[in-house]
Amino acid sequence: MSVCVHDAAQILRPPSDGLPYLRHDRAGELRLDGGALTAADGQITGFEADAGAVIQVDGAGCAVVPGFVDAHTHLPFAGWRAGEYAQKVAGAPYEEIARAGGGIAASSRAFGESSDEAVLAQAGALAREMLAHGTTTFECKSGYGLTVDAELRALRLAGDLGERAEQGATSTALLAHAVPAGYDADSWMDAVAAMLPRVRADTRASALDIYVESVAFTNEHLARMGELAQANTLALRCHVEQFATHRSVPVALAHGARSVDHLACLHPDDVAPLAGAECAAVLLPGAELLGAEHVAPARALADAGAICVLATDANPGTSPVLSLPLVIGIAVRRYGWTVREALLATTLNAAWVLGRSGEAGSLEAGKQADFLLLDGPVEHVPYRFGHNPVAAVFIAGRPVHVRPDAAWRIGGAT
Ligand SMILES: [Zn+2]
Repeated sequence: MSVCVHDAAQILRPPSDGLPYLRHDRAGELRLDGGALTAADGQITGFEADAGAVIQVDGAGCAVVPGFVDAHTHLPFAGWRAGEYAQKVAGAPYEEIARAGGGIAASSRAFGESSDEAVLAQAGALAREMLAHGTTTFECKSGYGLTVDAELRALRLAGDLGERAEQGATSTALLAHAVPAGYDADSWMDAVAAMLPRVRADTRASALDIYVESVAFTNEHLARMGELAQANTLALRCHVEQFATHRSVPVALAHGARSVDHLACLHPDDVAPLAGAECAAVLLPGAELLGAEHVAPARALADAGAICVLATDANPGTSPVLSLPLVIGIAVRRYGWTVREALLATTLNAAWVLGRSGEAGSLEAGKQADFLLLDGPVEHVPYRFGHNPVAAVFIAGRPVHVRPDAAWRIGGAT
């Protein structure tokens, strides 16, 4: 099948082909010239109009951008925790919510009580909602299992979700999320080490993840997770500096982390080393807003040339958010970022975190034809805050979601 988008007002392209990522001090080099994009047999073929392509897309007034990549979600999970949000808004601290049986423990109970089909039905519906908002690749995490068997189940279900969803999906083993009942943090890390052969043999996990916080794990556990990741040729990712400053970033960098995520409380002295490393700063402005957290030093990270990424952190507790356009809107306003910076952070750099930037994340000949038709220029994405700008979604050159009011744009060869 061949497709041609013609007469687009803007096409977001990298400054050159073959870049695995683009540091944020170079985001201004992203190109937004108008024109055409063609694809055939699932891949982008070029940027000249082709009247012979089977599918013709009228791009007049529209921007064409790479499909969004959501590099930090907690799918699949079971149920929601709306009551906790009301408690939080009323001022209840997380410790109090957790003591009353809420928090991660509540999601762990819900996960344990839900059948595989029920978990996949909820997660599949969320994946479709993400698709309608332009996400064409997303990450799944385990972490609500909190037993060895239940973590393996979560990773198996993540793989099943990736099979069923239209999008490409990757799996991260968040094996140190909360300290399970019957363990202390040290003995649970022993259990994690012991389960890794099964993780590698029975799941598609490509990364290990850990939550470093006063209520969870420490920098010593992060260092150990880094050693386990290296020994098992898995990427290391970590939730760090969310609620307090623990100076976890130097530890993560010393262990070759692929990403450090959250960073709302990043120490100023850690900005430059992070920006100089081949490690992404994954920022989660939806969680920051809804949790009334500190705001990550995103302007400083971008200016210093970090590999910045924006993600939803989609989860039932701190960020029940699925829309990357909404996250872009929050980031532009609260971080003082340009639209190009926000788009870079949700496309090429996000794909790099997931090990997918060779085939996804930018519009280049030879890459998979995952692209979005937006209903206006890219500047409208943050500006029309809360509006879903995604008129049509193409994955591997196939239209997999078309908004009814944009259906007239997609037709046959002329
Ligand atoms: Zn998270």
